[in-house]
Amino acid sequence: MLYGGIEAGGTKFVCAVADEKLQIKEKISIATTDPQTTFKQVFAFFDRYPIEALGIGSFGPIGIQPDQENYGHILATPKEGWAGVDFLGQMKQRYKVPTAWTTDVNAAAFGEIKRGAAKGRHSCIYLTIGTGIGGGVVINDEVFEGISHPEIGHLYIKRAAEDTYQGTCPYHKDCLEGLAAGPSLEARTGIKGEELPLDHPIWDLQANYLAQALMSYTLILAPEIIILGGGVMNQDHLLKKIQQQFSELMAGYMETPKAEDYIVRWGLPNESGLIGALLLAQREREY
Ligand code: ADP
Ligand code: ZN
Repeated sequence: MLYGGIEAGGTKFVCAVADEKLQIKEKISIATTDPQTTFKQVFAFFDRYPIEALGIGSFGPIGIQPDQENYGHILATPKEGWAGVDFLGQMKQRYKVPTAWTTDVNAAAFGEIKRGAAKGRHSCIYLTIGTGIGGGVVINDEVFEGISHPEIGHLYIKRAAEDTYQGTCPYHKDCLEGLAAGPSLEARTGIKGEELPLDHPIWDLQANYLAQALMSYTLILAPEIIILGGGVMNQDHLLKKIQQQFSELMAGYMETPKAEDYIVRWGLPNESGLIGALLLAQREREY
């Protein structure tokens, strides 16, 4: 039995085929260009394998209500040419196998709870801090979806008094993504995040904004663990700052595990989404 998995991002699509133990047999990375060119390459890859189920974790926003016309489509993305693309429909038409469909970050949260840093838990939040900020939620062992998938990267947070940066979110300007995603580091300092000195004051601001968001997630959902991933989290010292600020902001109001055990780094670096997509494919066959 072979499963297919796709982690579809705005920069690249990672596709893999795995056996029933979820051992990956082959994996490729395809640049996300225009939809037609991208899907041609996706099909060329999966056409070579008799997959029996498929799992897709896609960049969003995406339509997730089966009774709506936009189900399976990519919705209002600023990524040129992709808004309105019927991603799921094209895949189902070609492969005619049970197919799981969710966001890349929901798939990542699922991967982390089954095989990564949240293993053994029944609820978690996964947050990626990279070019944007996106989050996935698992509750009671299931990816959580309501009228849409949660969009916890776009929360409003309290700005620091001295912070005059306008923010980069194309929809809200100074939401969390606008104020704290990777590009904001460079926009504020003129130095790429990767190259910023460890003692730069920006890291305290960055940690504060992320800690505020994690506090809101905790107050609203009380997940068992929060997992942080994405390029910006390659900064080792940042995790500790976030944990400290989180504890200070919570001020002992709500009992949580110790911050070091509660806010952790991803257990499947750069792979949570793909592994999650494969696990979701496997589950499609089992149920
Ligand atoms: P993407 O979000 O496109 O999947 P990444 O997660 O690598 O990709 O995020 C890219 C963003 O993260 C860029 O803004 C980049 O400057 C920033 N970034 C990547 N690595 C680091 C690092 N080590 N420290 C700080 N910022 C980083
Ligand atoms: Zn926003």
